[in-house]
Amino acid sequence: TEERSLNFIEQIIEEDLSKGFPKEGLRFRFPPEPNGYLHVGHASSICLNFGLGLRYNAPVNLRFDDTNPAKEEQEYVDAIKRDIEWLGYTWDKELYASDYFQELYDWAVAFIKRGIAYIDSQSSEDMAKQKGTPSTPGTDSPYRNRSVEENLALFEGMKNGKFAEGTHVLRAKIDMSSSNMLMRDPIMYRIINKPHHRTGNKWHIYPMYDWAHGESDYLEGVSHSLCTLEFMMHRELYDWFLDQVYTEGKTRPKQREFARRNLSHTVVSKRKLLQLVQEKYVTGWDDPRMSTISGMRRRGYPPMAIRSFADTIGIAKRTNLVDVSVLEFCVREELNKTAPRVMAVLDPVKLIITNYPEGQEEWLEAENNPEDESAGFREVPFSRELYIEQEDFKESANSKFFRLSIGKEVRLKNAYIIKGEGVVKDEAGNILEIHATYDPDSKSGSGTEASMRKVKGTLHWVSVPHAVKAEVRIYDRLFSHENPDGDKEVDFKEYINPDSLHIINGYLEPSLKSAEAGERFQFQRLGYFCVDKDTNAEQLVFNKTVGLRDTWAK
Ligand code: ATP
Ligand code: MG
Ligand code: MG
Repeated sequence: TEERSLNFIEQIIEEDLSKGFPKEGLRFRFPPEPNGYLHVGHASSICLNFGLGLRYNAPVNLRFDDTNPAKEEQEYVDAIKRDIEWLGYTWDKELYASDYFQELYDWAVAFIKRGIAYIDSQSSEDMAKQKGTPSTPGTDSPYRNRSVEENLALFEGMKNGKFAEGTHVLRAKIDMSSSNMLMRDPIMYRIINKPHHRTGNKWHIYPMYDWAHGESDYLEGVSHSLCTLEFMMHRELYDWFLDQVYTEGKTRPKQREFARRNLSHTVVSKRKLLQLVQEKYVTGWDDPRMSTISGMRRRGYPPMAIRSFADTIGIAKRTNLVDVSVLEFCVREELNKTAPRVMAVLDPVKLIITNYPEGQEEWLEAENNPEDESAGFREVPFSRELYIEQEDFKESANSKFFRLSIGKEVRLKNAYIIKGEGVVKDEAGNILEIHATYDPDSKSGSGTEASMRKVKGTLHWVSVPHAVKAEVRIYDRLFSHENPDGDKEVDFKEYINPDSLHIINGYLEPSLKSAEAGERFQFQRLGYFCVDKDTNAEQLVFNKTVGLRDTWAK
């Protein structure tokens, strides 16, 4: 991270600093609207803003852009805070655009008095017709020249809930022939007669994004207000509003835009993610298949993996689709360093060690993480009856099959070298048991000549009488299409993979008996798994986080 070259936002900041902007004046914000759970795209924006805070030792505010009571809820506020904390970032102040409703209102009243705002009482359809087109000027509203007194009285009435929704709006009086359509007398306030999650029934008018956002930045002393590219055209309006309220000597915020980050095989839009939840395509916002931060957490993605992903893809000036395999690579890299190794068998067949005494057991030492010396060792039980994976055995196999077959030797991880001797089948020919013999002198780590013998394959296994049963949830991609959101003619839900969840029973080594929700492991040779929150005293539940390598066909 330290040695990479500056991204273009950092270059803008460096240039401002070189022109004399004081370093102490740098201040950033992350401004989510609490109308849903944060997703992987937001994670990019969080890492960008909080990353700048760390780089320049500058405060970063968490500001809830809560200006639309119709869509916002406390549940979302709480979830957003949890997610940012989980990513490991600390905000300076927790702020709400709704805290500025009075200041914004007072400014709007001043605009009316100065003749730069008016109440329009037309229908939204009529206003839309008057907007014109980018190449033809708009038409002035018949209400554009209302008297200040009438405007003030109506505005107060709107605020106090005297009017129905849609009957009046407050518009800034700018330029109905501007080449920027957003400058054609934009709406500053609309009536919404709904209680707000923080201000209750106090307000019946709510500020529009363009009016609230820059002014909130200004009130907070934000120096660089970063948003995504679709706000490029809004910058002129952002600046126009600031021009009207700016006082010399204060920090004047700059809006700068970067590209939205989209991820392949998923959608990153709160509105669409909400549809998946409401229409029960998933079990909730934190379903492990979701692109939400809470979904990724439940899936077992470590926060540092998400941060290193954001760092790896960097920020861009043009929107593009990042392949989900890049994220999975970061997850694997992080888990390889940190996840304890354990043994679990997910598609079991019984293996009987015929020369191992019945009723005997022994506890063998197993290394917790070869990538981390401090992780130490644990003991795993070995006995006469074991589970191994069905696919690790073939009755007869060619020389390229480095697993168990009749007459061939393999090592059992942390245990002994065994040799395949025979099988027991049912009438239909299905294998019920595999029989093998072990070499008692070949114990792993015992230093004997027999233990040093090279055999081609090593298998994981679990002792049958000690095995802990668990439900294991295996996920496939939620969307079978690389870019489910890419075709405006097709609803993104058409691309849902109908088969994105498989639930199986697995057998785990007993050290996992008391594993707790959120703990992450490598099931050796199988992948990374984490304990799901559905785990309870009766039932362990694991999610598959990611496989050991990228097996997706490109
Ligand atoms: P959505 O469409 O999912 O609701 P949004 O932009 O409306 O996204 P906000 O809550 O307004 O959601 O976003 C908070 C911040 O996160 C904004 O600065 C926004 O630009 C940024 N952001 C949102 N989505 C992405 C994305 N896909 N990539 C990068 N930044 C994003
Ligand atoms: Mg937004
Ligand atoms: Mg939005």
